[in-house]
Order: sequence, then C-alpha cells, then structure tokens
Amino acid sequence: MSDTEGLVIKNTGSWYTVLTDGGNTIDCKIKGNFRLKGIRSTNPVAVGDRVEIVRNHEGTAFITNICDRRNYIIRKSSNLSKQSHIIAANVDQAFLIVTVKYPETSTTFIDRFLASAEAYSVPVTLVFNKVDLLQDDERRYLDMMVTLYETVGYDCLKVSAETKEGMDRLLPLLKDKITLFSGNSGVGKSTMLNFIVPGAELRTAEISDAHNTGMHTTTFSEMLPLTDGGWVIDTPGIKGFGTFNMEPEEICGYFKEIFKFSKGCRFNNCTHTHEPGCAVRKAVEEHYIAESRYVSYLSMLEDKEEGKYLSLIHISEPTRPISIS
Ligand code: GDP
Ligand code: ZN
Repeated sequence: MSDTEGLVIKNTGSWYTVLTDGGNTIDCKIKGNFRLKGIRSTNPVAVGDRVEIVRNHEGTAFITNICDRRNYIIRKSSNLSKQSHIIAANVDQAFLIVTVKYPETSTTFIDRFLASAEAYSVPVTLVFNKVDLLQDDERRYLDMMVTLYETVGYDCLKVSAETKEGMDRLLPLLKDKITLFSGNSGVGKSTMLNFIVPGAELRTAEISDAHNTGMHTTTFSEMLPLTDGGWVIDTPGIKGFGTFNMEPEEICGYFKEIFKFSKGCRFNNCTHTHEPGCAVRKAVEEHYIAESRYVSYLSMLEDKEEGKYLSLIHISEPTRPISIS
C-alpha cells in the first residue's frame, strides 16, 4: 500500500502526523494554501482528515491535498475573533458522557449537544456513567432518562467507568470507527478513556500542559488508536458542534420528535411558541413530547433570537468548559 495517502492522526502547531496507508507515520507540513469554503480556520488540516502527501529528502513530507470531509467539528478560537479551529474531521460518531448524579448533567446541555450533532449528521450515543453510585430512586430516574432518549431515537448505555459495569457493551461499538468523546468535566471521561486506551492519561496531561503554558488557542489534537481497530478523540472542553447559521426552522429539525410533530402545525413557518393550531405544543401538553426537550428547544430558539447562538460554538479556554446558560 502506498505512502502517498494517509490519515492525519495528530496536529501540533504547524506539524501534522500522518499515518500512511502503507502503515508508516510521517511528520508533515502543509504545502500551499488550502482554503475552506465558508469558514476561516487557524488550521486548514485536522485530525481525521485523509490527505495526499509528497515526501521530501529530509524524511518528512508535504501535505498537498485534503480529501473531501464527511463532517468536521469546529470551535471558535476566542470569543472575539471570527477565526475558528477545526478539532477533527470525518467523525463517525460521538459518545456523550453524562451523569444523572455526581454531578448531574442538565437535560438542556444534553439536548443542545444532540441538536448540534444532528446539524453535523454525527450520530450520538448517550453514555450514562457512574451507575455504581446510584440509589434506587436515582436508578429509576436514570431509567426514565434512558427511556426518554431511546424513544427520541438515541442509543443509550448505562456504565460505570469505576467498576467497569457495562463497559463490555461499550467497547465493541468503537471498533473501526472514529469516535469523539465529550462530556462536562467531572462525569468520568478521563477515567473511561484511560480504561479504553491504556496510556491516554499521559496524553490528556499533555493537552493540559499546552493550555497551562498560556497558549490561548491550543492547536493540539490527537486521535488515540484502539488495539482492536478504531480511534478515539478526546476533546477537552468541547461541548458540541459549532452551528454558525442555524435558522429557527432548522433548530426544530434537529429535535427529531419535535420535527415529527411540527408537520401537523397549522402554519408551516410555525415556531411552536405561541401560534394557534400548533401541533408541537399540543404534543407537549399531551406528553408525547417531553417537557424537558421542549424547554431545550425554546432555549436554543431564544439564543437565536438574541443573536447569541455563538454559545453553541463551545469555546474552551483553557481546559474547563464554560457552561452554557
Ligand atoms: P472528567 O472530568 O470527565 O475527565 O472526570 P474524571 O475521569 O476525572 O472523573 C471525575 C471523578 O469521578 C474522579 O474522582 C473519578 O474517580 C470519578 N469517577 C469516574 N467514573 C466513575 C464511575 O463510574 N463511578 C464512580 N463511583 N466514580 C467515577
Ligand atoms: Zn407549531
């Protein structure tokens, strides 16, 4: 197999590590000027990208072409700048680690993440961690949450990164895929990744170091290889997917069950807030749509109206996520 094409598995500043189809890892730099339609990015190439390379005499290589992306995950470099940083490309799925307790992940946070993942067509599995800590009533609450999200159409797993309960069902789902791991801090993401990828701890620490040295926009990202095939991407502080231009009608489209009911609304531009003949509000009243999901929908709509939907773009500096409010 050739050494002229490969997968970008690591990005540190202007250097990219490419795993070639021939099985070699080669340090590469970009040759020429890549432009991406519609976005201004600090890094034109990202982990997960398939690239063409041309080797040079120094044993390194130049990236000469990027293959089309299925999707990419982006975050704004800072609050003020319009520049963005691509975290990863060609992500097959995202695992959102959540906890019903210790700490409690809010449904608004979950729903916003799910909606932005819909926008990028990235399937999400909800991984409910720390089940070992739950009392009976908390377990019942957990089961309610699982039922809610499974009904909407998301796969859910109940696990404990501590006792490893449920991890046997999680691991096979990662095989041969590029999986993004996300979650609020404290939910046990590092613990889980250390189990899934022995040695990940070290690399997670490296990322924190890069932040602590005062680099405001870290350009460090890496895919961690799984022994049985596949890659995981740890994204400290990434809460979801950037959504630059979400129209109100689109937001509805990213809430699967709300979208389904919206077809019955009297007005086809119904925002499901106040309009007469709104099938969505009727469905909420009749408990076909969970109130928590509707509240999340409204909160995203409000952001949009106030022009502050940038909060969806999930800025993280340095390593701890800023909470969406
Ligand atoms: P992160 O911020 O998401 O990376 O969370 P950590 O992996 O650092 O975990 C936060 C705390 O929760 C640590 O004290 C972990 O030992 C603990 N923890 C993580 N997963 C579990 C779990 O499944 N059960 C219990 N009981 N504790 C856990
Ligand atoms: Zn409506």
